[in-house]
Parts: sequence; structure tokens; C-alpha cells
Amino acid sequence: MNKNDVIAEAREKGVKFIRLQFTDLLGVMKNVAITIDQLEKALDNELMFDGSSIYGFTRIEESDMYLRPDPNTFVVFPWRPREGGVARLMCDIYNPDGTPFDGCPRVILKRTLAKAAEMGYTMQVGPELEFFLFRLDEDGVPTLTTHDNAGYFDLSPVDLGEQARREIVLTLEQMGFEIEASHHEVAPGQHEIDFKYSDALDTADKIVTFKFVVRTIAQRHGLHATFMPKPVFGINGSGMHTNQSLFKDDANAFYDTADPMQLSKEAYYYIGGLLKHARAIAAVTNPTVNSYKRLVPGYEAPVYMAWSGRNRSPLIRIPAKRGASTRVELRNPDPSCNPYLALAACLTAGLDGIANKIDPPPACDRNIYHMTESELSELGIGSLPGSLQEAYAELAKNEVIKGALGTHIYEKLAEAKAKEYDSYRVRVHQWEIDQYLTMF
Ligand code: GLN
Ligand code: MG
Ligand code: MG
Ligand code: MG
Repeated sequence: MNKNDVIAEAREKGVKFIRLQFTDLLGVMKNVAITIDQLEKALDNELMFDGSSIYGFTRIEESDMYLRPDPNTFVVFPWRPREGGVARLMCDIYNPDGTPFDGCPRVILKRTLAKAAEMGYTMQVGPELEFFLFRLDEDGVPTLTTHDNAGYFDLSPVDLGEQARREIVLTLEQMGFEIEASHHEVAPGQHEIDFKYSDALDTADKIVTFKFVVRTIAQRHGLHATFMPKPVFGINGSGMHTNQSLFKDDANAFYDTADPMQLSKEAYYYIGGLLKHARAIAAVTNPTVNSYKRLVPGYEAPVYMAWSGRNRSPLIRIPAKRGASTRVELRNPDPSCNPYLALAACLTAGLDGIANKIDPPPACDRNIYHMTESELSELGIGSLPGSLQEAYAELAKNEVIKGALGTHIYEKLAEAKAKEYDSYRVRVHQWEIDQYLTMF
């Protein structure tokens, strides 16, 4: 798609408004709406906005930023009316002097992809996004009640959640997603929808779009969709397993028929790099206080840093498919992450593994949760950070992963996340009341 294709398609489809979208540091999607009359100007990169009001973007005195829409991301919202329709374009943020802005997550991912390209690689990513659908109360406020539970007492056999999920899938398909699987997850009210892998930038764009579509359609069904990693104690949380591979000259660089596991040297080094940097990457792939409530034993979420071709307890699994589908599944990311930064961090770790020939430890095919402390330490299996604070302490020491984010983003994030953790730390939580109020 180029500028003229976009304008022609917008006119042909009766689009009246175009939302120019980008994400802030935390991966929260932001919008500036323009009318079709301004589309050409926007596509000529002439639209300015005040960046100082977006968290982590800029200081007041340099607040004029430019939006550069990516014509390939043009898509019409299927749920809006055909007359006076609404479409969107994802944008990169540029400085007034025409250079890419260091605080734009999409720019950061593109820089990392350019480094991969210098080494001859493109990154392919297929995410598995999980989420909960909760009921709204009479005032429209989200509850923690799931449609499944309510369905149990309901006279109507209709499951609101299944219906919402069906419409989500149909909507995504209309927006160009190729949906490979969609199913109810383990926990009540929990769902997963998987779409086909694609290059990393396209996938990151799709992840932010996905979250916004899921929430929008759920709302139309009177449900609240949440990508919060662990909304309810005692049941599974929501992950975003991230299947990743490198391609070289249009062939999967992780596939090698000569190897017993049919994995290439590059695949092993990539795993080595991911494992080496996993504790620092967690700050980016598991970026909330709540993320670490998910990464505990007993709920199919990883805790220990090991890899396996077979079982699902380790951090990294190698799914059975080979050929073009040969890939590494990283299981700790959760859907509260900023996908641009998360993919930049993973790719940087993997490339570091390849550049420095980092051999992974031997594959671990036993159930790690059944191992004793001494067995774990004998095998050199460490664990992921136990809190956001621990993850940031790890990131602070890791020049490679910090380098992927760049100074601007790293510093803003570290500041924001220290505040977030502190705000949590100083509060008295319900568990403490239950535990201590009558005991002491
Ligand atoms: N919900 C689990 C997690 O937190 C994953 C469950 C699964 O897909 N096997 O990662
Ligand atoms: Mg899955
Ligand atoms: Mg799943
Ligand atoms: Mg999976």
C-alpha cells in the first residue's frame, strides 16, 4: 500500500474519519482522529501533535511531534457504519527536525529489526493471547464475575462469552487477521485467540489492534475484556506465549534436518541468548506489579529458566512443528506488555546469543516443578524475577537489553515503574488484613 492506495480505498469504502494510532511507553494505544480531508496531509507526514501530554514522550519545551502513518496499516473498522466509516493508520513518531523519536516504541522495534537485517535475519512472531471476559454490573462497571459462572445459574443456555468470542474472531478476520485457533482457556471466563505468525512489526501492530478489538466487541456484548495478567487468585492467569523464529533468505533459519532435534546452531544460540537475558527481559515482557502474581507454580505459567522440546513447564518450549514453522516459544510474556518493546528485547537477546555463540544448557525434559531445590541448583536452573522490582534491578544491570530500549525509553520506564512499584508497596492489601488483623 502507498499513499494513493490508501486515499483511494478510504474514499471507496466511504471512510469519513481516520484514527492515527500509536502507543505510549506502556503500550497503551493513543488516537488522534482526523477527517478524510486531512488524510493526504497526514500521509505526507505533515500532521503535528502535542507530545507533552503523552506520558514519557517529551518535555514541554519540545512538545511538537510529527506523526508518520504507515500506509501498510490502513484498515477500516468493520463495526462502524459503512456511511461515514472509521479507519485507522498506525504511526511512527518523529521529531520536528525529521528524525525518528527515541521515545516511540514502534521506532525502537524498527531499529532492532534493522540490526537483525544487517545480520541477514528477519524475525517472525506468532503470539497466543489469553484474556478474561467479565460481566459488568448494573452501572456498567466491570466485575470479577465470569459469564461461565453466571451461565451456570442462568435459565438461558446462551453463553455470552462464546458469542462475544465468535464475533471477535469474525471482526478480526474482516480486518485481515488470519485466525488459526480460538478456544476457551482453562480458567472460567478465560479465552485464547491465536493468529498466524508474521514479521515482527506487523505482529506488534496486530497485538495492539487485537487488544483494542477484543475490548470493543466485548463491550458490545455487555462484557469487560481484560488482558490483566492475573485478575483472580487461585486460577490461571493470562499469558502471551510468544513464538519466534528467524528467517534468512526466505527460509527458516532455526530448521536444520541434520540435527537430532532438527534445530540449527542459530536456534540453539537464540535460546542461549533468551535464557541468558531472561531475567532482564522480564521487566519488559512482564511489566506490571500484577505480572508476577502469574509467574508462580501451579498455574501453567513459567517460573524456572530452562528449555525443553517436550514438556510445558519450562520458560522456553520448542513446539513439535518443523520446516517453516520451526520456532521457539517463550512462555513468560503476558498481554500487559508493550509488544514493540517486548519483541525488541527478545530479538536483541536472541541476536546476542547468535553473535556471541551462547550455548544453551542441555534441554530439560523433566517436570521442573517436581524437582527439589538442590536438583535445580545442580542443573543450574534459576528462576524468573519474583517481582517487578527484582526485574528492574536485573534490567538496570543489563547493558544489552537496555541498549535495545535506548536511553530515553529505559530511563522513562525505570522511573515510571519505580513509582508504580512504590505505590503498590506502601499500600495495605486485603491479604495483610486477613492475615494479621486478628492475629496481633
Ligand atoms: N494461562 C497459562 C499462562 O499463564 C497458559 C496456559 C496454556 O496455554 N497452556 O501462561
Ligand atoms: Mg496456546
Ligand atoms: Mg493458552
Ligand atoms: Mg502456547
